[in-house]
Amino acid sequence: MPKYKKSQSLLRDSFNFPTFSDLPENPANGVNLEYYDGCLDKFEPKKHWCFLGEIVDSVGLERVTLRVKDKDGLIGTIRLYTDDGGKALDPQIEKGHTVAVLYGEQHCFTDMTVGIRVEDASNIKIIPCSLEQLLKASDDVAVLREGQPTHCGSCGKADCKALVGVQWFTTKTWGKCRECFSF
Ligand SMILES: [Zn+2]
Repeated sequence: MPKYKKSQSLLRDSFNFPTFSDLPENPANGVNLEYYDGCLDKFEPKKHWCFLGEIVDSVGLERVTLRVKDKDGLIGTIRLYTDDGGKALDPQIEKGHTVAVLYGEQHCFTDMTVGIRVEDASNIKIIPCSLEQLLKASDDVAVLREGQPTHCGSCGKADCKALVGVQWFTTKTWGKCRECFSF
């Protein structure tokens, strides 16, 4: 097992990669100044953040609706309110794979589940590996002091889905948000 400090493994960071319960609420319900900047009724992300979870089930009919397990093991809901209701994403949905949502706000659905309403299709992506594999790939990157690993530390492949998936995150700077990321 590679040695790493949890604090150095990017995707294990609980501020930039919050669980359902740590997501900021919509600023209209009380602004979280750790995540947002602004005044009056115009708020912009101050830092970058991305929710990561594992798809447990897909239950939507008219709109793509996913049951997703977060890093703490809590199951919540991610529902698409994009123009096509998530149809374009549908072929990629697979149980056990990871879903990533940029700048998600904590939302309480009418069935009382906590989750995220996704309104912009460029803020959601499915990564074809498990959350655990993705987190391990993030640990592998943290072990290397310089550069990006060329082969996955777990399976040894250069084209490992987890390694390719994690590189989108690890090649970015997750500090101050000057311009929002999109997938
Ligand atoms: Zn691998």
